[in-house]
Amino acid sequence: MRTLARVTVAAVLSFLPTFALASENKLQCTAPEALEKLLEGNKRYVEGKFGMCKDSNAELREKLAKGQTPYAIVLSCSDSRLPPEVIFDKAPGEIFVIRVAGNTVDPVILASIEYAAEHLGTPLIFVLGHERCGAVTAAVDASGKKGTKGHSDHEASEEQGEKKEGKDNMSQLVTRLAPAVAKAKGKNKGVERGVLVEAAVDENIKLVAQNLTKQSAVLKKLAEEGKVQIAIGKYDLDDGKVSLLGKQKCSWVYE
Ligand SMILES: [Zn+2]
Repeated sequence: MRTLARVTVAAVLSFLPTFALASENKLQCTAPEALEKLLEGNKRYVEGKFGMCKDSNAELREKLAKGQTPYAIVLSCSDSRLPPEVIFDKAPGEIFVIRVAGNTVDPVILASIEYAAEHLGTPLIFVLGHERCGAVTAAVDASGKKGTKGHSDHEASEEQGEKKEGKDNMSQLVTRLAPAVAKAKGKNKGVERGVLVEAAVDENIKLVAQNLTKQSAVLKKLAEEGKVQIAIGKYDLDDGKVSLLGKQKCSWVYE
């Protein structure tokens, strides 16, 4: 249904210069195709064959000035070592990027994702975490301290983003990551800090992805209609590779 609708709309709108951009740049695609484009770009990046900059020319700017049709929304950590456009080898207009420490969400970030999914028709949301994440490490360290509300294991819940009045900003970030830390600790008793951090990074990526449709009625509706799909991955700081996380079980929240 979705593919048919897209083709029909594209056929009608192809007469309008504003929307001709989509067919010219071949940016309209399905979520699995969008995921493949991301992974293909990452492969080029890892192999040192990426060409993002050469594609970012005046002609492209002129086209993009008329409108945007990004095929993937990437929610990633703000860490300077994994700029999505670079590690996925993408030019301007290809991916809609939201970056925040710990690749977590709040209402403003959810609104950004909703905008791209609903108004730009972007079919894929890709939640990207990474190794040795500083934000997650801070949450792991905070979880060991007594008297920090929201950081202990028994207080953790599946839901992130609870309203915390009177907290300083860093505490709010740590609190949002606390459920993932609690899950990781529950599954990894007595492991060293580095192992726990990696487990918490993985759990955080999964929880954020799962919560997208729980915390956003717009995304839930789009997912149920098959108009948006969610995939998750983790960036390897050492070799630059993005690996899908839990491909069989977790990549597609609505599988
Ligand atoms: Zn990070």
